[in-house]
Amino acid sequence: MDERLTRRGTLLRLGGLAGAVLAGGAWKARETEDAAGAGPAGVASGAVSCVLAPEQTEGPYYVAGERVRRNITEGRPGSPLSLHLTVVDASTCRPIKGAAVDIWHCDAGGVYSGFGRGSGRAFLRGVQRTNAKGVATFQTIYPGWYPGRTVHIHVKVHVGGNVVHTGQLYFRDAQTDAVYRKQPYRKRPRRTTRNASDAIFRNGGKRSLLSVRRRQGGGHIAAITMGVLR
Ligand code: FE
Repeated sequence: MDERLTRRGTLLRLGGLAGAVLAGGAWKARETEDAAGAGPAGVASGAVSCVLAPEQTEGPYYVAGERVRRNITEGRPGSPLSLHLTVVDASTCRPIKGAAVDIWHCDAGGVYSGFGRGSGRAFLRGVQRTNAKGVATFQTIYPGWYPGRTVHIHVKVHVGGNVVHTGQLYFRDAQTDAVYRKQPYRKRPRRTTRNASDAIFRNGGKRSLLSVRRRQGGGHIAAITMGVLR
């Protein structure tokens, strides 16, 4: 299915509401999101507000029909990374249960499965369904880098068979620098591109920065909430 057509259909269907949310720009999620006034009226009045995740290109390495699995590492070496991706309805801030979250990223050496040196493999790709709290969890490794791009994880969110979001998730540069000081990342040359000099990051990427904290036993836990329109 053509992703752009699907997206356009979604926006057209939502009409004025989508316009209002988009015009709001980087809305801040509020602690009062469950207070009275949920739904479009609540959004319009300001009682409810969410961050609408910025749309960013899927790039050339998407493969449809990935496997449903939590652990996508397939033994690729790297710093362990637990990903907690929450999907909410941007018009109500309520979690969306049963959304299919599809992620893919390159390995520590900058290689994507399914292409070039990764041909015939499916590492670092997978799909998870969101639970009742809207959370999809993955077990993976901290991504490597490839020339011309800052460090990123690709994501697509499907609801009811439609693609409702295509984006990219990012890390703070200082975080990446710290991880890349260790093997297997450190055996590669210095990366070419940091967040500020990445043409795709510059177009809304700040709103797709993962919150990262250390994980007990090594590695990190990274989390983000993605507001989508369905
Ligand atoms: Fe990429």
